[in-house]
Amino acid sequence: MAGPPRVVVVGSANIDLVVTAPSLPGPGETVLGRDLASIAGGKGANQAIAAARAGARCTFVGAVGSDAFGGTLRDQLAASGVDVSLLRVADGATGVALIVVDGVGENAIVVSPGANATLTALTDADRAAIGAADVLLCQLETPIEAVTEAARTARDAGTRVMLNAAPARDLPDDLVDAVDLLVVNQVEAAAMTSELPAGVDSSDYPADADSADVTALVDELLLDFPRVVLTRGAAGCWLGVREGDEGVRHVPAPVVDAVDTTAAGDAFSGAFAVAWGEGRDLVDAARWASAAGAVSVLALGASPAIPARELIDERYRATYRD
Ligand code: ADP
Repeated sequence: MAGPPRVVVVGSANIDLVVTAPSLPGPGETVLGRDLASIAGGKGANQAIAAARAGARCTFVGAVGSDAFGGTLRDQLAASGVDVSLLRVADGATGVALIVVDGVGENAIVVSPGANATLTALTDADRAAIGAADVLLCQLETPIEAVTEAARTARDAGTRVMLNAAPARDLPDDLVDAVDLLVVNQVEAAAMTSELPAGVDSSDYPADADSADVTALVDELLLDFPRVVLTRGAAGCWLGVREGDEGVRHVPAPVVDAVDTTAAGDAFSGAFAVAWGEGRDLVDAARWASAAGAVSVLALGASPAIPARELIDERYRATYRD
């Protein structure tokens, strides 16, 4: 392959406005917080940043608003090495997540989708970039029409389609049929299969839990998707391939002292797309992505905690020696 892999991410972009305060305000209450941080966020932007830092030539297809936040977001994406030439500017507000974090790490969040809601169709330039890419990476925080169009465009052009089905929602058949690899966490997998009650938090599952239920979930998802990766935080991930007789394989995560698990899934998906685009096999890609996810939980915040390639490589080599 000539040069680094080309990854196109189609998805959401928000500005996360984060304030730390001694406690979360109740109804009608005002609390005094610390200084405001304005940080790039949204699953699409986070995964584009993750892919770029992991070494891809990454182009982001998304929408920001015509307000000042839109410019901040564009600058932060570009500073992480993401190609923002296909980023649209829609009249009106940028997507914003208002986040209050208290002294024990509990948070309260309000999301205003803003310009993300305008990402309903692709342009010719978007389609050309997707057709020229090695991997298309999508999530479900933007209108499903454009996600579906992107996936179908990729499939017709021979570009691999990776879907991180987060947050969980019903998927049109056209989208399901175009996906080469599905990435979900346990909560999303449960919602998509109804095998476990929706709303169950993956942190409720101990790291040493019997993996029989997880294997059953992956097997059920393999009825609809040819390749499935199910992530379970510190317990690692489970990988299943429909065409193959290896069964569902467990890839343990590196053991780390987690500080903040926000965006671990985004670091994982972005790095996975890069490794897969480099032509590495799926188990190896899952290991490398697990190293990226594990490093991301060592620092506070979402996009600022997403690791660069050297840090991923270091953790990967230290963890998976065979
Ligand atoms: P999401 O953020 O989408 O819920 P997960 O929490 O399952 O995703 O994390 C994705 C991946 O990141 C995991 O499969 C694992 O490889 C890595 N990871 C997440 N949390 C930890 C942790 N506490 N220790 C080590 N690795 C982790």
